[in-house]
This record gives sequence, C-alpha cells and structure tokens, in this order.
Amino acid sequence: MRKVTVAAKPRPDPEASAVGQCLCGAVEIEIGTPARWAWHDHSSATRRAHGAAYATYVGSWRKRFRVTRGADEITRFRDDATGTTRSFCARCGTPLAYERARSAHMVNVPRALFTSRTGREHRYHIAIDQLQDWTYLGEPLVPLKGFPGVVWERPTRNSTRKKRGLLGGSWS
Ligand SMILES: [Zn+2]
Repeated sequence: MRKVTVAAKPRPDPEASAVGQCLCGAVEIEIGTPARWAWHDHSSATRRAHGAAYATYVGSWRKRFRVTRGADEITRFRDDATGTTRSFCARCGTPLAYERARSAHMVNVPRALFTSRTGREHRYHIAIDQLQDWTYLGEPLVPLKGFPGVVWERPTRNSTRKKRGLLGGSWS
C-alpha cells in the first residue's frame, strides 16, 4: 500500500505581530497576527471620530493587543449612548482603539496605524447604508493642469457616481 504523506497545516507563529503608532510617535501599539478580522466602518460616529469618509479597523483579541509605548499619553472618550470607548493620543489626536461593550474581548485598531500586514483582508463593511456620496470609490482620475501632483475626477454627464445612485439632488 502506498503511503500518503499529508503536509502538516502551518501553525500560526505565536510571536508574529504587527506594530502601529500614532502620528507623533508618542504611542506605539502591537497586535498578534493574524488579526481576528478587518472591516470598513461607514457609521456617522466613526466618520466624526476619524474626520474621514470611513475608517478601516483591524479587530484583535484583547489578550493579543498591547500598548508598547506611551500608555500615559492615551486619552479615552466613552460614549454612554452606544456603550463604546474610543482611545486617542492626547498629543496628536490620532485615534488608537475602538472598543464596544457588546464585544468586550475585542479591541479594534485603525488599520492605518500599521505599516506591515495584519494577516487579515478587510472584506467586511459596517453601516454600508451610510456610505457618503463624497467617498472616493476608485473613479478614473486625470492630472489637473497647472497643479503638479494633483489629480481629479473629470465631471461627466453620466458619471460613475450617478450610475451608482450615490448622488442625490446636490453635492453636499
Ligand atoms: Zn501621538
């Protein structure tokens, strides 16, 4: 009888991690990789907290999340209405963590803080019904004449945004 060798499933490296930091560098955090999951959050609370069209988070098990530098620089905002806590750097304002009471074992970290891979693809969307009509969705861009480094979306009668039904009566 022929012997069949089954390749062992590669085990995750318990030491593997991704390191992230805030804009000023005072705070450094680390999560074990692969992260638990990753998603885009389009909700109004997250848009405001980040000052952005949406935020992409990487969810980490709390036990695999560490503040490796600048714990004293972290300030927190607890939103009692939603049972959520957002942490940010008191020096530069960078959002650092988003924690939800209903999933107490998870710490969600903005993907943008990391420069290396986190081991998870960001395939999920929360509050996609709140996607803003000013969010860049990969429309074709062309150079803006006279402004090196600036590109723009040339307005067309039948733009991608109109096709997607993202434009109402006016630009907001
Ligand atoms: Zn900072």
